Amino acid sequence: MPYLMPTKIKRVSPNRTDVTWNDGHFGSYPSWYLRENCPCADCVDEFTGEKKIVPGSIPASLERVHVALVGNYALQFNWSDGHNTGIYSFDLLRDLCPCPECLPGGLKEPAEDTGKPGSFEV
Ligand SMILES: [Zn+2]
Ligand SMILES: [Zn+2]
Repeated sequence: MPYLMPTKIKRVSPNRTDVTWNDGHFGSYPSWYLRENCPCADCVDEFTGEKKIVPGSIPASLERVHVALVGNYALQFNWSDGHNTGIYSFDLLRDLCPCPECLPGGLKEPAEDTGKPGSFEV
């Protein structure tokens, strides 16, 4: 099995990034979803590995401002909320793949207005 890496990263819109993999797999990643799964030390507890971001707390309107290749193993995104410390390794990106095959239940898009805690359906 060859090392999995993206062959194409398409900036579909500020809200969506498409990734085509070297094994032919394809995933379309909403910005809010990637942001919600940010692996940096601010977003994930270093010791427990627990996510600190409350699901549904990232607005669907969150945008990707910039994406850059890190070394040859990861992508770094700058988000419209100013966050940019997450390094998304290709392994992580593939694990997060939201395509119907990897995530049969699909993604539930958060409400535009997430200002009211408790208004989110789980
Ligand atoms: Zn983060
Ligand atoms: Zn997939």
